Amino acid sequence: MNILIVGNGGREHALAWKVAQSPRVERVFVAPGNAGTQQDAENVDIAATDIPALVKFAKENDIAYTVAGPEVPLCDGLADAFKAAGLSVFGPSKEAAALEGSKSFCKKVMRNADVPTADFHEFRDAEGAERFINERYFETPEDVPLVVKADGLAAGKGAIVCSTRDEALEAIDIIARQKQFGSAGDKLIIEDRLEGFEASILAITDGKTILTLPPAEDHKRALDGDLGPNTGGMGAYCPTPTIDDETLRWVESNVLVPTVHAMKRQRTPFLGILYAGLMMTPQGPKVLEYNVRFGDPECQPLLFRLKTDLVDIIEATCERRLSSIGPLEWDDRPSVCVVMASGGYPGKYETGKVIRGLEEAAKIPDVKVFHAGTKVDSEGNVVTTGGRVLGVTAMGDSVATAKLQAYKAVKCIRWDGAWCRKDIADKAMTAR
Ligand code: ATP
Repeated sequence: MNILIVGNGGREHALAWKVAQSPRVERVFVAPGNAGTQQDAENVDIAATDIPALVKFAKENDIAYTVAGPEVPLCDGLADAFKAAGLSVFGPSKEAAALEGSKSFCKKVMRNADVPTADFHEFRDAEGAERFINERYFETPEDVPLVVKADGLAAGKGAIVCSTRDEALEAIDIIARQKQFGSAGDKLIIEDRLEGFEASILAITDGKTILTLPPAEDHKRALDGDLGPNTGGMGAYCPTPTIDDETLRWVESNVLVPTVHAMKRQRTPFLGILYAGLMMTPQGPKVLEYNVRFGDPECQPLLFRLKTDLVDIIEATCERRLSSIGPLEWDDRPSVCVVMASGGYPGKYETGKVIRGLEEAAKIPDVKVFHAGTKVDSEGNVVTTGGRVLGVTAMGDSVATAKLQAYKAVKCIRWDGAWCRKDIADKAMTAR
């Protein structure tokens, strides 16, 4: 059978690489893909957001299953358009993808399902939100532990964490008056700020059965020691000891199961990857957000360890018989992914730099270099096209060995301005 992966990041390269290992698969296409997917699969020059062109391609190329990597096409109705054309998609419908696409929708589902989350208020305009802040915090303007959020998608920038009344009012101004995130700010959510450490727990679901995945930990900040500005993610490892088995089971029973059931009850059944972003508070885990797809880079170390045929999983999910798959099989060895980025990222950076050393890196055992912001130029060179360029992923008998292998491969790879964090997975080696 033929499979189509939609997207062009490290996540999509990892998906394409894994799917291509299935003996049942003939051709794997990636739209639009990158230099890495061009090697492990076939690239198709269609943007991830061009849903009509993707449908047309899938029909003409006998695609059995399509997997959408990023959230935007899912929130725009990719799965619905494919379904209308008689095609199968591993991913939620537009209505179900609103779990990520609308924070207001997400909060209401959680409230109905009794899922632990921060208390919140919803506003349709700046005036209402400002009145709420001014009245509630009239006497304590220096103690305003809130988070102001744009309702819609804002590429991970739509949540502003505040400590004072002035900060909260400024956040409202940015989202609802200046409209820095466009129509995503047409509604505002103001919620209590939670304290603790963050973790994400992901599951595959067909709307009935839930298979929870081993926990992985991302590294959001740009610099070692979790310092510097936020990024799309500078590395990840899997499994993380910061989430023990008991916590995983607790989140499954008290977060994932009630959410999936609530979605089914309200006739927006959820199918695909359900990603719970959690704050581990002293009162227990609370959901900060849901995503409706794999996280990137976490997807890379996670899929690197998956032993079960991913195509079997995708098919069983789309056919709503995930219970027939049984427990997923994983390599016992931990994996570590180090993201190599362009000089200047997450700020301004240059592209078009020639990447060298990929062949040497590929020779290191138990290593796979997943590509993100890369392409092959007219002279056949692999060049940079984005901020996050490569996800150098390795496995080892221990986290320390996996880390060593990953950085050995990193050392082989060079381009003008390349950099990475040096402390990925160190947290696994120091008890929290
Ligand atoms: P976008 O919609 O722009 O993609 P997002 O989905 O990333 O944003 P959230 O996940 O809700 O938005 O929040 C982003 C980050 O803000 C979280 O990872 C967390 O660090 C912080 N945050 C969000 N809500 C809270 C909260 N209630 N308490 C403390 N921190 C929070």
